[in-house]
Amino acid sequence: MAENPRVAPRARFLAGPARSAGSGAFDVDAARADFPALRQRVHGRPLVYLDNAATTQKPRAVLAALRRHYVRDNANVRRGVHLLGERATAAYEGARAAVAHFVGAANAGEIVFTRGATEALNLVAQSFGRAHVGAGDEVVVSEMEHHANIVPWQMLCRAVGATLRVAPVDARGVLDEAAFAALLGARTKIVALAHVSNALGTRNPIAALAVRARAHGAIVVVDGAQAVAHAPVDVAALGCDFYAFSGHKLYGPTGVGALWGRAALLAAMPPWQGGGEMVRSVGWDEVAYEPAPYRFEAGTPPIAAAVGLAAAIAYLEGFDRAALAAHERDLLAYAADGLATVPGLRMIGEAPDKIGGHSFVLAGVHPHDVAAVLDGEGVAVRAGHHCAQPILRRFGVGATVRASFGLYNRRADVDRLIAGLAVVRRTFDP
Ligand code: PLP
Repeated sequence: MAENPRVAPRARFLAGPARSAGSGAFDVDAARADFPALRQRVHGRPLVYLDNAATTQKPRAVLAALRRHYVRDNANVRRGVHLLGERATAAYEGARAAVAHFVGAANAGEIVFTRGATEALNLVAQSFGRAHVGAGDEVVVSEMEHHANIVPWQMLCRAVGATLRVAPVDARGVLDEAAFAALLGARTKIVALAHVSNALGTRNPIAALAVRARAHGAIVVVDGAQAVAHAPVDVAALGCDFYAFSGHKLYGPTGVGALWGRAALLAAMPPWQGGGEMVRSVGWDEVAYEPAPYRFEAGTPPIAAAVGLAAAIAYLEGFDRAALAAHERDLLAYAADGLATVPGLRMIGEAPDKIGGHSFVLAGVHPHDVAAVLDGEGVAVRAGHHCAQPILRRFGVGATVRASFGLYNRRADVDRLIAGLAVVRRTFDP
């Protein structure tokens, strides 16, 4: 696909000098100072925020970018001929270029802004899916998917008479690759997989799985919602066809996410929502659509949120990502060791390649009660089914407690979690 002239080159949002590039060290205390929300006390105690898989806190750089946009550049995009309109358009298209660079896209025209990962996955299902999946075809997902990567495919399959096939996971929460391979065949049109499971923390070997799927001519859709904040993403190396994620899990604002798609696929896809901005001309008897990605962005897009997302990406890219990943790995291992000492605790998800956090249950105490007591101790965790009911059922539970980490978490936060679990024990089993 030719570069769209309206897509600005990578501009002002690309990261500045890396904060710790080359040093091999990640300074968690310095990073914490960037997040004003972390400074508060809850229920009289300093906040320990361990609900990052649900949404992350926002650094000052993102808050400042949002404020700057609304104070200085606020206007609608691609419409106004006035200066503010030009600035807003340049910022929005600059954000698209920043996202493209962030995921290793060939060009910014391969990035569609959406409301989040959920909308991005629905876009693929409703646009690509309805055009390419028919009666008797199959869509393959894994057992560990978030509802956002299940329900759109169920809706598609029901609408066109296709079948949803589910690849199982083993007792550790690892995808059974042999069973996955056995599901693939000439009828497989789409394979949709989480890069990282939000309920188990399992990271799937997407590159290897994509090779198998593509050998059968299937299109590979990756739900990257839980991956992007923790590891650099390169869609070319992954070998997938679509990659979806949300800004708010990446230290950016809510209300914006992105879909990367191969240019040739996007170019051939029909629009899925109609309205302003996605059309070239409209008459009573005919309509001409804009090219991708604009064809998929009906109505006023999330302009300020996209600007905030670009600032979040620049913030994240300002760190030495290898050092940051090492910090998060250390935290995960430290937490696993600590949780292993808690009497009656069962870990849900013990894959060798895990990132992001841990899910667990405590014998005899409902996860909601665990979370409520922890909240009283100032420790924010998630309790529930995490919008991944099928995989929790696979493990015989209806809910878990999930402690998930962001770049600003420290070993001391894990210590507070473990101490809080001792309070839970004393409360329910004195
Ligand atoms: N996929 C996964 C793995 C998730 O964890 C989530 C959110 O928790 C989503 C998709 C949906 O993200 P959003 O609600 O931001 O669209």
